[in-house]
Order: sequence, then C-alpha cells, then structure tokens
Amino acid sequence: MKSIIFSNGQKYTPSKIIGIGRNYDKHIQEMKSRPTEEPVIFIKPNSALQDITQPIEIPKNHGTVHHEVELAVCMGKRTRAVKEAEAMKYVAGYGLALDLTLRDVQARAKQEGLPWSLAKGFDGACPVSEFVDKAKIGDVYDLTLSLSVNGQVRQHSNTGFMIFKIPYLISYISQWITLLKGDLIITGTPEGVGPLQSGDKIEAGISHIAQIRTAVK
Ligand code: MG
Repeated sequence: MKSIIFSNGQKYTPSKIIGIGRNYDKHIQEMKSRPTEEPVIFIKPNSALQDITQPIEIPKNHGTVHHEVELAVCMGKRTRAVKEAEAMKYVAGYGLALDLTLRDVQARAKQEGLPWSLAKGFDGACPVSEFVDKAKIGDVYDLTLSLSVNGQVRQHSNTGFMIFKIPYLISYISQWITLLKGDLIITGTPEGVGPLQSGDKIEAGISHIAQIRTAVK
C-alpha cells in the first residue's frame, strides 16, 4: 500500500481517495456539464497515488490525459455518518493533488452512461504533495490554486469558489462510505484543465500548502 506524508513526518496510508466532480462553476461550464443538487462522487484506489515531486507517470495509448489541480483533505480518524457541524474534527490536514483524468476514456463513458473508474482510477492517477496539519491553515476557503504547464498559466482560482464545502462533503460521503484514517477527499478542480504530454514541465501550487515544480515523465 502507498502512503502519504505530512510535513511533521507523520505517515498515513489512504485506503481510498474520494473524488468530487463538478465542484467549481467555471469548470462545469468548460466541460459543458450541468451542476448537480448533490455532489458527484467517484473513487480512486490506493494504487492511484504517486509522489508529485517525482517525474509524473501518465498512461500511454489511452488518449488525452488532463491535469486537474485540487485541494486534498486527509482524514485523521475513522469517520462514519457524521453531522456537518462535527465534520472538521475528523480532518487531519491538507495537501495538493492532481486528479489526472483520461479525458477521452471519460467522454466515452459519459456518452454511454458508464462508470468513470478507468478514466479516474488508473495507476498513478493521483499525484500528491506533502500534507500540512490543518492547524497551520487559516481560512481553507481563501487559498489560491494554480497550475502552469511549460510556463503558461492554465489554472488559477481560489478554493472560495468551491460549491460543496468540506464539512458538507465529509458528512455527505460518510453517510454512504466509511472514511478511514488517512483517506483523502479531492475536492474538485477549477477551470483551465488541459492535456499533459511527456516532457511537460509543471508548476502547481496551493497557497500555504504546497508549491511544486515537477515534470511529466
Ligand atoms: Mg477532479
């Protein structure tokens, strides 16, 4: 099993990564999707994790791979059917994640009303940064999210634009799926998603959490 690490050295082993789709209006618009009344949920397995600071491995021969920069929430303990008002007590901290997506595979699945599991859950589909303790983050809804490829800014937004906020997401998910210590929730991407290619140089950041320089292998 793969682990994530906190800046204080603490290690967690996520049993799963819960992804949230359609959580920023302008991304919904660019995808020509519609907002939903309840969050769109998908799962990436533990085998999707990779260290974002190392050259990022992306699948070959399965069409376009898109970057989606996202705030990742790490759960600090077992979380089952919690109320929104209690939810933040279960959070350990935050990190930066890329929700790598096989966009052509996903488009075909959407067209046929089939699941997104392969488009979102392939090996390495979730590069993550080091995590920081939640106590170190002031307002989690005022963090700049950014991603550049080869020096060109593609994504630049703020966590304040999140539609479903973190306590609601934790409460909602935990009514259906027990979150275990170390599990991650990746909270959706803002607009500006686009393709990655071998050799691309990436800069990705979330203010107060991580500023990464990396490359696509
Ligand atoms: Mg996403």
